[in-house]
Amino acid sequence: MFDSPEVQALADEVRRLSDLESALALLGWDQETAMPRGGAGARARSRGELTQIIHSRWQADSFQRLLESAESSVNGGADRDGRLVKEIRRRFDLRVRVPAELAEETARATSEAQSAWIDARKASKFAEFAPHLERLITLRRRAAEALRSGDESLYDALHDKYEPHGRSARVRELGETVKPRLIALTEKYAPICRETRRDFLERSFAVDQQKAFGERVLADLGYDLDHGLIEVSTHPFCSGIASPTDVRVTTRYSENDVKSALTGLIHECGHALYEQGFDPKLAGTPGAEATSMGIHESQSRLWENQVGTSPEFWQHYLPQLKQHFPDALGDVELDDFVRAFNIVEPSMIRVDADEVTYNLHVLLRFEIESELIDGDLTVSELPELWNAKMEEYLGIRPANDAEGVLQDIHWSMGAFGYFPTYFLGNLYSAQIYRAARQALPELDGQIAHHVSHPTACPHLPSKSICCCPSC
Ligand code: ZN
Repeated sequence: MFDSPEVQALADEVRRLSDLESALALLGWDQETAMPRGGAGARARSRGELTQIIHSRWQADSFQRLLESAESSVNGGADRDGRLVKEIRRRFDLRVRVPAELAEETARATSEAQSAWIDARKASKFAEFAPHLERLITLRRRAAEALRSGDESLYDALHDKYEPHGRSARVRELGETVKPRLIALTEKYAPICRETRRDFLERSFAVDQQKAFGERVLADLGYDLDHGLIEVSTHPFCSGIASPTDVRVTTRYSENDVKSALTGLIHECGHALYEQGFDPKLAGTPGAEATSMGIHESQSRLWENQVGTSPEFWQHYLPQLKQHFPDALGDVELDDFVRAFNIVEPSMIRVDADEVTYNLHVLLRFEIESELIDGDLTVSELPELWNAKMEEYLGIRPANDAEGVLQDIHWSMGAFGYFPTYFLGNLYSAQIYRAARQALPELDGQIAHHVSHPTACPHLPSKSICCCPSC
């Protein structure tokens, strides 16, 4: 596979570690989809032990020797062998630069902060979570000191984990460009959308029919169920257990909401299509992993927003959805359905936000967290700053901490630097789709006139639907 035997030996060891990571991912998947509540303690121990084994294998002298001899064999080259070794070096440095005692203390503090966050959010009392957040900020700043190179800011050293080589200065610049336009769009469309009919999206939709329709859509989009699985969980997610050959997704269903489960599924399907598309020959190496979290998110947002809310998509799918729900949707016209699916409306909760207001939620968090890490913003100032920014960007003010500063899990996990990847993912997805439309002028029409075939198309044997000219 690799030209140099030294690189091959390093790749083989990385693959073995990836096999252990797969076992860890499967334990996580089971925990979210099937594990009985009483299994939590034993599961935490299993995951902790396995994590420890993987970490010590990365830190072993034998691993360092494999890495160094691979480095001398590629001698800084930029071919495939060289790029692989460089990426493994980057990951190795990230793992070993943070001292073990700091990593352990952070793991403990994070687990305590997460339970404190759950309780504080329930009680809507930020003050109960504040001391945990302060401790996590201190610990993450210490990790950033260990991780940063050159004149990199502390925040950038943390952001780098999710968006390698990304810079917060660039995110800020893009944010300042996009923010006033998003605010103007929201102010323009929110009043119109207030008058838009949407009641039919909240009629009665039997869950088994929602499942059948969702599976049909995902199969059409190219999600390969021989290498995938669709399950139910509290929060939708995608898990690349062993990409590209085992990539799973979840969603959650509500009988009175036909939109949420489906958009969740299409979003996670976008993540899964990305991972199912990795080169099987590179499986288990960084060559078959996401470039960055922003790029990963661009794939989910592309299918969810650029394709899944478009009039062309629904021109094709509304008749099929009506076959599943003749009582609920029989009287609904295409235009009304598409408008209801695309409502723009300022709302308190990021995960429920529409395509236009979503980035404003994310930019607010990015501005706050970068100040917490790099600036002198204090934790006690957070709730007020959050509410003031909500008012400035979205024209609404949270009534309490639960629908304001306490709503997201990220900070309780110590995941500072993650939020910008949502914003970048949205921008990347729009750029990719624009390029696709330019390269394929018939794209919109092909989506709208996609033809369903009762039998498999001979030109795409694994798909039941095809728009090739011969069909
Ligand atoms: Zn996503």
